Amino acid sequence: MTKPIYLDHAATTPTDPRVVEAMLPYFTETYGNPSSTHRFGRSAERAINTARETIAGILNCSPQEIVFTSCGTESDNLALRGAVLAARRQGKPARIVTARSEHHAVSVTAEQLAGTAGVGVTWLPVTREGRVTATALSEHLTPDTTLVSVMYANNEVGTIQPIRDLAEVAHTCGALFHTDAVQAAGQLSLDVQALGVDLLSLSAHKFYGPKGVGLLYVRSGTDLLPSQTGGSQESNLRAGTHNVPLIVGMAKALELAYSDLEARAAQFRRYRDRLIDGILSSVLGVQLTGAPGQDRLPNHASFVLEGVEANALLMHLDMNGIAASSGSACNTGNPQPSEVLLSMGYPPALALGSLRLTVGLHTTDADIDRVLAILPEAVQKVRMVRQAQLSQ
Ligand code: PLP
Repeated sequence: MTKPIYLDHAATTPTDPRVVEAMLPYFTETYGNPSSTHRFGRSAERAINTARETIAGILNCSPQEIVFTSCGTESDNLALRGAVLAARRQGKPARIVTARSEHHAVSVTAEQLAGTAGVGVTWLPVTREGRVTATALSEHLTPDTTLVSVMYANNEVGTIQPIRDLAEVAHTCGALFHTDAVQAAGQLSLDVQALGVDLLSLSAHKFYGPKGVGLLYVRSGTDLLPSQTGGSQESNLRAGTHNVPLIVGMAKALELAYSDLEARAAQFRRYRDRLIDGILSSVLGVQLTGAPGQDRLPNHASFVLEGVEANALLMHLDMNGIAASSGSACNTGNPQPSEVLLSMGYPPALALGSLRLTVGLHTTDADIDRVLAILPEAVQKVRMVRQAQLSQ
């Protein structure tokens, strides 16, 4: 059997062997608790401090502004919950302004806060390409807005948002600006000064780091309460013993990605564009979703296909050795149309036929050739089966 082709790097990436190597001593040799005062603890603390400095260099912030968490979801939760809890503690009204096209880590958190904590939520409109515009944001901002949360790049359709402009608009109203940069990391600049953000979420497993570790950048002076309480770790913003090996691994993965960013992005773009051009020219009834060219993530190709049920197509591709996705990994197996595509104005029937192909460091031209050879026939077969079922 030929080697399977993995085109689901937006769901997760393999951990780089150099990252694994960097992590290993922190499981068995330097295993102290960084909060302990003895030499074992101090060695572990030094490793955490070095990781923090490395990451701060890439984000262009101070090391004290990095809060280590267990994943991107936790970082998003801390940003949203932390900001509204802090506002409520001061007796201020609290409102989150965000969009239905956000990852569930943001949109479901906003919904829950609205349902249980009396927090207002404003849902911003998005364009057909999945963009939140500065004009739309300024039209929807109200003086009671605590936090605006708009992701840097969309996980389902790859659209890159105008973060700097959006942050500027949020600040004119005195609101904080958070961006979920989970998909952007390893592909776009994470310079928080250039982006102008107050809060930014990352997750290591999307950039060849380990699963189960992330971070939240918190601009100095931002009023935030912890969403997980207990010990005083991470400047009282995230209680819990540090996961030293994973934090070391995240720093190593980020360092590798940003020492080679332009080359990686150029390589991704070449494969992405081969996929997009090839699929648009060989498959009937297909549309690219999200923004084209420079306005989409370098590794991201996504489509909707008329008359196709995504899960049937994904199973067919999997049988042919191609691992793809219909959008968010968290929604695979859930035959509901994607809220992201619905918010972009796609009708439910078309939104059910979504396909996402995300390339990575180990993707080859031969992989792309094989996908382009198999996909048109796979789509045709899935359509024929569906037609036959409908006519029964
Ligand atoms: N935000 C975005 C945009 C994502 O794509 C994901 C993961 O798919 C997350 C947040 C959640 O990250 P994690 O898997 O680390 O919880």
